[in-house]
Amino acid sequence: MNTDLALIGLDELSALVSTMGFPGWRARQVLDWRKRGVLDPAAMNNIPMKLRQALQQHWPEPVIQLRQRQYSEDGTRKYLFALRGGGQVETVMIPEEKRITICLSSQVGCVLDCPFCNTGLQAFEKNLEAAAIVAQVWMVQQDILQQPVRQSRATRPTHLVYMGMGEPMANEAGLHDSLRFFLAEDGMGLSRRRITVSTSGLIPQIERLGAAWPVNLAISLHSADNELRNTLVPINRKYPLPALRQALNAWPLPAQRHITLEYVMLAGVNDRDEDAERLIAFVNKGRERVNLIRFNPHPGAGYQGSSRQHMDAFASLLVKAGVRATIRRSRGDDIMAACGQLRAASGQ
Ligand code: SAH
Ligand code: SF4
Repeated sequence: MNTDLALIGLDELSALVSTMGFPGWRARQVLDWRKRGVLDPAAMNNIPMKLRQALQQHWPEPVIQLRQRQYSEDGTRKYLFALRGGGQVETVMIPEEKRITICLSSQVGCVLDCPFCNTGLQAFEKNLEAAAIVAQVWMVQQDILQQPVRQSRATRPTHLVYMGMGEPMANEAGLHDSLRFFLAEDGMGLSRRRITVSTSGLIPQIERLGAAWPVNLAISLHSADNELRNTLVPINRKYPLPALRQALNAWPLPAQRHITLEYVMLAGVNDRDEDAERLIAFVNKGRERVNLIRFNPHPGAGYQGSSRQHMDAFASLLVKAGVRATIRRSRGDDIMAACGQLRAASGQ
C-alpha cells in the first residue's frame, strides 16, 4: 500500500519513517511541511538528507504539479495542475472578507454533457484519485503563504466546494476518500458545514454520501420541468425530478441548514414566468434555497445568459412566493474561472 503524501495519516507515516530507519517523530516534521503546502520531500530542509531521499524514492512523482497560475482583478486565483499519469485540471481560490473558498475539480472532463457547461463539452478522460483532490488544497495553501491574499482576513482555506471540473458523484471513491481526509481530526479537521458537494443529481450516490459524509449538498437543478431538464441536465433521463425530490426529502439535513438548488439562468430557455412557477412548486421551502447563477459564456456555448434585470425580477417572483433565493455573484470571470468556464485540454 502506498498512501500518497498528500493524505497519509500520522500513524502510517511514523511507521513508514521507522521502516526507513529513522525515529517515528520525524513524521510530524514532514506533516508540518505539508501544512504549509509543501509536498516535495526535497524541499523539507530540517529533515536529514537520507530521510528526504528515502521519502523521495517512496513517492517518486508528486500527485499533481502546478503548471500555471492566473490572478483575477477581484482577487480570485485560478490554477492549472498536471496530474500524475496525464491530464490536467483547474482549481479556483475565491477570497471573501472572512473566508477563503477553494473550488475543487474531481474529474478531467465530464461524461454528463450538460450543454451549457464548458467542462461537459470536453471529452471525459479520467477520475482524480483522492490524493489529487486533496493536493489541490495543499498547493493553494502554499500559494497563499507565498503571496498573501489581500482580499481576505483568512490566511488559510476555510471552505471547500466540489464545483470545479467534473461530477464528484461519478468519482465516488475519490470523493469519499478525500472527504474522509478533509473531515478527519488528523487530516484537515474541517467542519462538515464548510464543505459543499455539488451534483447534477446521481440519486444512489446522493443517498450513499448522506449516509457516509453528510456535508452540504448543492443540486444543479436548472429546471423544475422534467422535459426541459432532460435537455439541460441529461442525467435527468435516468434520475427524473420525482426521484430527485424523494432523495432531497430524505437527505440528512442538520438543524439551521439548507440544501442549495443551483439554477443557471438562460435567456428564453428557463427564465420565463412559467419556469418560476414550476420552480416554486418544486422547492421544499423549509429545507431548500435557490441560488440563481448568472450564465458564464465560453466559446462553443449556444446559450445566452438572462440579463441582470431579468434575474432580479425572476428572484422577486420566487421571494414573493416564500422561496429563499439569492443571486450568486460571479467571481473571476476575467480569467475564465467562473462557474462552468473551467476546461483544460490535455497534452497542452
Ligand atoms: N458536476 C457538478 C459540479 C460542477 S459544475 C454539477 O453539475 O453540479 C458547478 C456548477 O456550475 C453547476 O451548478 C453547473 O451546472 C454550473 N455551470 C456549468 N456551466 C455553467 C456556466 N456556463 N455558467 C454558469 N454556471 C455553470
Ligand atoms: Fe458535468 Fe456538472 Fe458540467 Fe453537467 S454541469 S457537464 S454534470 S460538470
